[in-house]
Amino acid sequence: MEICRESKNKYNLVDDIPYKESMYNIEVCQFNKKAIFNSASSAVVIIDEDYDMLSSKEDEKHILAENGFIVPNNINEYEKFISNIEIAKKNNLNFFTIIPTTACNAKCFYCYEENYCKKSITKESNEKIIDFLAKNIDENSKCVLDWYGGEPLLCVNKIDEIIDKLISMNKLKNNNWSSSITTNGTLLTKNLISHMTNKWHLESAHITIDGVEEEHNRRKNVSLNGESAFKKTHDGILELLKSGVYVNLRIHLDNHNKDSFSKILDSISDLMQFDNLHLFPTYLFPPEHEMADSYIKDFEKEDFFYDVFKALLNSNNKITLKDLFPKAKFNGCLASKSNAVVIAPDGTTHACVQDFSSVDKNDTEKYHNFKYALEECKECPFLPICLGGCLYNRNLSNTMRTPCVRNRFVVKPLLKLLLEKNNNEGN
Ligand code: SF4
Ligand code: SF4
Repeated sequence: MEICRESKNKYNLVDDIPYKESMYNIEVCQFNKKAIFNSASSAVVIIDEDYDMLSSKEDEKHILAENGFIVPNNINEYEKFISNIEIAKKNNLNFFTIIPTTACNAKCFYCYEENYCKKSITKESNEKIIDFLAKNIDENSKCVLDWYGGEPLLCVNKIDEIIDKLISMNKLKNNNWSSSITTNGTLLTKNLISHMTNKWHLESAHITIDGVEEEHNRRKNVSLNGESAFKKTHDGILELLKSGVYVNLRIHLDNHNKDSFSKILDSISDLMQFDNLHLFPTYLFPPEHEMADSYIKDFEKEDFFYDVFKALLNSNNKITLKDLFPKAKFNGCLASKSNAVVIAPDGTTHACVQDFSSVDKNDTEKYHNFKYALEECKECPFLPICLGGCLYNRNLSNTMRTPCVRNRFVVKPLLKLLLEKNNNEGN
């Protein structure tokens, strides 16, 4: 038996009571071995395929119990797990996702905002937004202004105005606040990045790459006077990384560009030397009501992630296989978090970034109680790393989407890769 990743919280083995295998064990068998990930403890173990965890030697039984692979017979694991989940109304806000505009200089075919009417902050809504922020920012505790869009960098002056006003009202003090941004990166320049880090206290950026240079440029479909969108974004990311900004780099893949994933990694290999880069390769979400062949379907996703992680582990990226396993979650997505709110360009407040243009104005309470989603997913062994998934997708009608999120599809491919690595090292 080999523990490959330990649980952060250790559970004691209680002597003289019967044990059962955890319902949160997810396993893969290969090469006469079994690799198990426990989604509640995030621990990983490799055992012989015919190893019986319940009649193992005392010292090994201790280790299996400590890491949550076996649990007392009388325990209701679902009840135990959800008793630790935070469900609270939106109060004590300190994470403000602000959408200065829904307009964008790029025209990605998959963008959920493509069909929305383009709206930007107006003079009136600017006052409304500042008023809301001023009322809700607690100047004595940390807060994050999270700039989202559309393309927020089309509104640099508006962002400056909001920040200036909040500083003059003494709401943003010293280093008690920071910014994050989601941007396509095509408008980043050295000067702007310096402005963003100094004036906006920018600490993190979320940026997407859609393929190798040619494919990325085709998909972004942005006019930059002949300049390459890929190059602009790449250079912007490099500058952000050098400035110490944490960059979460999503790589959007579908059936048309997934085979070039290794080439995409080659094209950004110079970025991988930075510890403040986090690569997040994932599948492209289909539109709400249609599923073209180009989108990766749920039943294809485990094979997809197997190829993706294999390529990632063979690249210059420093991440290790062990670090790729997800961790159990104790609070839901942004929409259900008690400290987070989304502010639309018209100043209305919402819970979910995908649902901010709904007719239901100021709908911040709509998502907070997601117990129903947990209950619907009660039997699912992935529940602790998914928490019932995306509530927005769950509540769509006539949709091709499912609520299950990325974590649902990464565990088995990772276990498979772990067994292959173990087998290679043993030979
Ligand atoms: S409900 Fe879905 S789209 Fe909305 S914040 Fe949560 S995960 Fe994201
Ligand atoms: S949304 Fe899907 S993966 Fe997540 S807990 Fe429910 S059934 Fe499981």
